[in-house]
This record gives sequence, C-alpha cells and structure tokens, in this order.
Amino acid sequence: MKLLIASNNAHKVREIEEILSDYFDEMVTLREAGLVIDVVEDGKTFRENAVKKAMETLEKSGFDAALADDSGLCVDALDGAPGVYSARYAGEGHDDTANNDLLMERMKAVPDEKRTCRFVSCIALARKGRPVLVAEGKAEGLLLRAPAGENGFGYDPYFFYPPFSKSFAELTAQEKNSVSHRRAALDALRKALDEENAGA
Ligand code: IMP
Repeated sequence: MKLLIASNNAHKVREIEEILSDYFDEMVTLREAGLVIDVVEDGKTFRENAVKKAMETLEKSGFDAALADDSGLCVDALDGAPGVYSARYAGEGHDDTANNDLLMERMKAVPDEKRTCRFVSCIALARKGRPVLVAEGKAEGLLLRAPAGENGFGYDPYFFYPPFSKSFAELTAQEKNSVSHRRAALDALRKALDEENAGA
C-alpha cells in the first residue's frame, strides 16, 4: 500500500519513513505527490486535529492511506498550554523565537520544581474502508529558563530531558528520535498495525 504523509516537515517525515518502512510499499509527502491540501486545525485536542487531517487528506488526495500527526508542548503550570496552539502560541505568523519568548515570560515566576512539561504527539492513519488508527506518544521533561543547544526545532532548546541530562536541542537527531514523543507514537502505531495483522 502507498502511504501519503500529510506533512512537509523534513524532521517529521524522515522519522516517519524510518519507523514505518516495513509497513508500506512506498511513502510520499504531499509535496512529492504534487498536492497542496490545507486542513484547518481547529480541534480542541491533538487527537481531533490528527484524525481530521488524516481523513481529509485521504478524501481529497484519492490515496488509499494517509497519515497525519499533530503535536505540541504541554506545560503543567500553564494548565497544559501551549498544547494544540504550540505552533502559533504567540499568534498567527509568529516564529519559534516569539513562541519561546512568550512561554518564558509566562513561566518567569514559576519555581524549578513546578516546571514539569511534556511533548505530546498524536498520529492518525486513515485508510479506505478501514477504521482510523490513532496512536499517542509522550516525552516528559522540565522547562529551562534559558535556551541550551542548537539542534532540533520549536521548543527543543528549552526542553530539558532528565534521562540524558540535556535539552532536546543538545541531542543529535538520532538521539532525539530514539526517545521523542513522535517515536513513542509511531511505536504505538506499529503495535496497533501488528495487532490488526494478527487478527486478520
Ligand atoms: P504541528 O504538529 O506541526 O502542528 O506543530 C506543533 C508545534 O509544536 C511545532 O510548531 C512546535 O512548536 C511544537 N513541537 C512539536 N514537536 C516538537 C519537537 O519535537 N520539538 C520542539 N517543538 C515541537
């Protein structure tokens, strides 16, 4: 089966292709397929957004399978914010620096022991004539007060990962991909696919 990946984010696509290569004959991104499919991410949860994106992409593309991911950072002291608004926390059209600056401003008075947070990834696989499979993964960390590291993207420089005693931006891509929220979600999806195959 040929899989359409509903993303053009190179970081995400590489990770998805590596982890799911045994399950699909071929994987292509929207750009590679010459498609522009914009889905409005107006859900209240990562799950709602991922399922909507996967289903709409499947319908509009005519492919037999489409995979979508929605992810973000949830900070306990901010009741789970920025959450589904992670990409546009500082407002539409703002970049990672603006998002991180706003987050630091809102977390200024929060003491170290209350700076717990997690990255969450929800992945949905929509296929013609089959139920949508949804899988979720998390990576637990602590929010730093100053950036550390140059790698990664988004909130990575502020996300301290205790098992490695480093921020996500200080990890190599390989290290991050071995423990990331997306990795956990993709592993859970593989498990769901294996269970489906075993029951078939
Ligand atoms: P989306 O899943 O493409 O909608 O993006 C969600 C947003 O969450 C990104 O723009 C980043 O700000 C943030 N995010 C998601 N995953 C990561 C990650 O692995 N590192 C850093 N930031 C992330």
